[in-house]
Amino acid sequence: MPIQESVLEQIRQRLDIVEIVRQYVPSLKRAGRTWKACCPFHKERTPSFTVSSDKGLYYCFGCQEGGDLFDFVMKMENLSFNETVKKLADLAGVEYQPQTGFSPAEQRRMDMRKTLDFAKKFYQKLLLSSSGTSARNYIKGRGLTKETTLKFELGLAPDNFTSLQQAARANHYTDAQLKEAGICTTSKYGLRDYFRNRLIFPILNQRGETVAFGGRILGQGEPKYLNTPETVLFSKSHVLYGLNFAGPAIRKANRAVLLEGYMDVIACHQAGFEYTVAPLGTSFTPDHAKLLKRYTDNVIVLFDPDAAGIKAALRGALILIEQGIFVQVASLSEGLDPDEYIAKYGKEKFEYVLDHAQDLIQFHTQLQLAKYPQPLQPQAKAAMVSELTETLLKQPDPIVRREWVKYVAEQIQVEEDLVLQRMHGKQRTTSRLEQKLRPQRAAAATPPKAQTFLAAEENLVSWLLRYPQYATGCEELINQFDSRTLAELLQAVCQAAAQNNDAAGFTERVKVLAPAHTQMAIRLSMTELPDDFNAQRDIDACKRAVKKEALQRQLTAVRQQIKTAGAGQVPAELLQKMAALQNQLKN
Ligand SMILES: [Zn+2]
Repeated sequence: MPIQESVLEQIRQRLDIVEIVRQYVPSLKRAGRTWKACCPFHKERTPSFTVSSDKGLYYCFGCQEGGDLFDFVMKMENLSFNETVKKLADLAGVEYQPQTGFSPAEQRRMDMRKTLDFAKKFYQKLLLSSSGTSARNYIKGRGLTKETTLKFELGLAPDNFTSLQQAARANHYTDAQLKEAGICTTSKYGLRDYFRNRLIFPILNQRGETVAFGGRILGQGEPKYLNTPETVLFSKSHVLYGLNFAGPAIRKANRAVLLEGYMDVIACHQAGFEYTVAPLGTSFTPDHAKLLKRYTDNVIVLFDPDAAGIKAALRGALILIEQGIFVQVASLSEGLDPDEYIAKYGKEKFEYVLDHAQDLIQFHTQLQLAKYPQPLQPQAKAAMVSELTETLLKQPDPIVRREWVKYVAEQIQVEEDLVLQRMHGKQRTTSRLEQKLRPQRAAAATPPKAQTFLAAEENLVSWLLRYPQYATGCEELINQFDSRTLAELLQAVCQAAAQNNDAAGFTERVKVLAPAHTQMAIRLSMTELPDDFNAQRDIDACKRAVKKEALQRQLTAVRQQIKTAGAGQVPAELLQKMAALQNQLKN
């Protein structure tokens, strides 16, 4: 059974789409009657993502992604429609109990969450029990307090292969459920618990739902850290450890610090640095960067100053700037971990390190300078410029990029122009390569000729979506439209306006009548109005333009027929028709 429209309506009324979107896109700024930001769904440098509070809609003029509140949350959180309604209903305080069951996929995810919660409680109870003494001593040795242990819900996997599964079976969980959740696995000895003799770190997504576990070996053994495998709930590249707690602190401080592992995050949170997170395992991905961008545009990458750490930091930093994030890098002296550093030098000193983090280009340039003997030989300079060009080209902001070029030129003592030349050379090769790889995108960038011709038809529909009271009498234009899509939309507009020409919720009503063209309807209703727009005057002018263009097209067709017929062979009625059309066009 579909969700009742009244529930959706209540949610729409109570939640402001601008407020919801802003939680994911903090850079959203007012621009006249609408709000704008760089699009969260595609990479761009100038904002074409638009949100309208009055209409309850969003639309990106860059990638044509658009919809209402539900579409947005569904897409951002990767939820089903049902789950989205549930989430937003909770947020809006609207009573909503889905009467019918969830789809099999939804049911599967809900079962998995339940199984994971069960395992989490099992591990946690064990850590706090008498068998957890040595694990608790280890935690204490790492300087973590009892409150921290409870906050992060740390647990213990005992030193055997069956404790968890026995407890789970006794609570009616099936083997299939345990395997699907990634907490048990089949071996030649039958079903085995995934973790044995490990300190357990529940991994929560940004919404605070347990989606996986990490385990650190207690005592000797390999690997030191182990995560449960990826499941339908858990994808490593979409989760940052600690973000469920860090989110508000990141927004408040307007910065995030990227650390290396769970223990670093936990220690930093305990010390009051709550804007810290870590990827799971070593790899930081563009999805992680996008996730962070929902909270802030400033990220500090704190890394281990060994070769592997430096490489990882540089890689992560480049991924972050590509997403338009301002990146700085810092490392702690003596190769200390954050907890060791804070214990030895105190919180103020740690904060000082963060506040004095290096700009990415400084970091990269200094690394290069350390690689070659001084004074720099010409070949060394050339090699350095080539290497640094990679970083320079990733900087999306042209002003910052120019400053970076200046810095690099000064440090290496070469002419700025030479750095720029090298950059342009590289850019050309890359863009040529990109064109080859993505021919369809290059084609999409050049609008088809017919588009300019459609301006009047498009404007008319766009304006009527805003001012449906002027739709009366527009039915006669439907047949004169050149574009099938726009004609069908105009028909829906006329029909919707005949029932109710109230501007509030009008686009929604049109969408229902023209389900095949909802994206177009959203785009047109979000297109900006000219500054001096006058509904009566401009809509009338538009109607005249549409009629004129229709006549023009007929005239062109008739002229073509006359031409095909050839001189002296032209039927009289064709000539009469041409004359009539020419007359009509004059009026
Ligand atoms: Zn977009």
